[in-house]
Amino acid sequence: MQIDIITVLPELLESPFSHSILRRAKEKNLLSIHLHNLRDYTPYKHGQVDDYQFGGGAGMVMMPEPLANAIEQLSSAVRYDEIIYMSPDGERLNQQMANQLSLKNNLLIICGHYKGIDERIRQHFVTREISIGDYVLSGGELPAAVLVDAIGRLIPGVLNDETSALTDSFQDNLLAPPVYTRPADFRGWKTPEALLSGDPKIVAEWRYEQSLERTRERRPDLMP
Ligand code: SAH
Repeated sequence: MQIDIITVLPELLESPFSHSILRRAKEKNLLSIHLHNLRDYTPYKHGQVDDYQFGGGAGMVMMPEPLANAIEQLSSAVRYDEIIYMSPDGERLNQQMANQLSLKNNLLIICGHYKGIDERIRQHFVTREISIGDYVLSGGELPAAVLVDAIGRLIPGVLNDETSALTDSFQDNLLAPPVYTRPADFRGWKTPEALLSGDPKIVAEWRYEQSLERTRERRPDLMP
């Protein structure tokens, strides 16, 4: 999969993709991520990419021309399955969306700033708008990093057995069961017997029960 990201702060996105599972995905050539500095695409002086909003009011708006230039230039080389704008008023990201997006070949992600991007770019270029939650951040870079992480770890072949996504929360509409590691007895706080039983059937049953209980308790809205 190839993911291109248009941003005014490429430095902010270098680190999140250089470690752990996303780094491994890149090393295995299952994922390539390219950061594009919006200022390289502006026809305006001094790398200007934003301006006052029509109608007045506080806050700058990202101008349409640099964004259109960037989107058109990148799209001439790559056929994007989705052109995504990170936005608090978009569809709320969930595991099912991440699963679907992980099967795509090419994604273009636009990070906004200030008051957001000119509406005409959203109308004429953007195919999907995604929010990472009901709160407002100052830029689209952290949301883009969240989206790419959620998608990247699901790309077939990225995770190995020890890190399998299948047993994570939300994959089967249930929260994940509690997990324990050595020592079995820590300060007198014991690991549940079922997990130490060595019997896969007993372990599986305990985990399923715990998943159900946790979901019922914390997220009854997920229960079938
Ligand atoms: N005025 C806008 C918010 C702009 S925040 C509004 O009220 O809807 C600046 C940028 O940060 C946005 O353009 C978007 O790219 C990003 N952003 C902020 N919060 C976000 C969220 N919850 N999900 C996704 N992107 C977000």
